[in-house]
Amino acid sequence: MEAVSCIFCGDRGTRPYHAENGYEAVACEGCGLVFVTPRPTEGEMKRLYEGQETKVDLGLQIRNVERAVYEARRALDLIGRHAASGRLLEIGSAAGYFLREARARGFSPTGIDITGPFVRYATEVLGVDVHEGTLASVELSPGSFDVVYHRNVLSHLAYPLDAFRQMHALLRPGGLLVFQTGNVAELPGERWAGTNELDLPDHLYHFGEKQLRLLAERTGFEILDVQRYALLLHEPAPRAALLRLQSLFRTKGKPAAPKPQKDKAAPFVVPTEVPPARLLQTLEVLVDGYITYDLGAVASKEGRRATLVVVARAR
Ligand SMILES: [Zn+2]
Repeated sequence: MEAVSCIFCGDRGTRPYHAENGYEAVACEGCGLVFVTPRPTEGEMKRLYEGQETKVDLGLQIRNVERAVYEARRALDLIGRHAASGRLLEIGSAAGYFLREARARGFSPTGIDITGPFVRYATEVLGVDVHEGTLASVELSPGSFDVVYHRNVLSHLAYPLDAFRQMHALLRPGGLLVFQTGNVAELPGERWAGTNELDLPDHLYHFGEKQLRLLAERTGFEILDVQRYALLLHEPAPRAALLRLQSLFRTKGKPAAPKPQKDKAAPFVVPTEVPPARLLQTLEVLVDGYITYDLGAVASKEGRRATLVVVARAR
């Protein structure tokens, strides 16, 4: 374990924010950044992530094609307002659906992901270009990308300033960085009391708009746009209603499937085909998307959990 201080302010003092899974997140007194300290060292983190293939439900992620495609199209609509074509890099490309959609829109996409089976599925089944590894381990030509994109990746980065400088170096001057992340640092720590919703220590840093602006400014980016969508489905009442509705549909007529045995001896089998789109899931994704991105864009965001989409340009 190693103690860390704020990446922006150094040691300006912290206050306790939230504890879960035996880890503690603190908030910086200087800028409000929320981060885990002490945290596992890089070596310890690697060991934690080595169990990841059994921890992340790879099959579920690959089957969830409807949601992945929906999110990809939304992101590409936004990217399309600023860049119509060119080389695009996605960091944390998972099953590769975003890259496939990006290719269909005329981009020349490349992905990076640390999870081997995802990389195999994306390259062998979707036929997209993905490198297995991290931003630090994969060799890519500096200044060779027009767009860098990542979604729900930022909180996992152990060294966000270094990572953003690497993204900057990969972009041509004037290139576009688009990313999506939460707004945890804007909310009081009490909001998470008794929950594991911050996913510590997988999520090492939590930002809000103010801290995202600091991160961009310190790493050579000019922010063009920050879009805020209130996550209305994460509010307690609608969330409970949605879960009830889902359980109504999901368990009708068939008993709940037993949890698969997390057995290290049985490795995940990479599917050889793209799963067919399912009607119910497609409808659910459209309703979720409407609530999050259409209602969530106009709902009051004060004190609410939100997803932030940031568009920045490399200076
Ligand atoms: Zn700070």
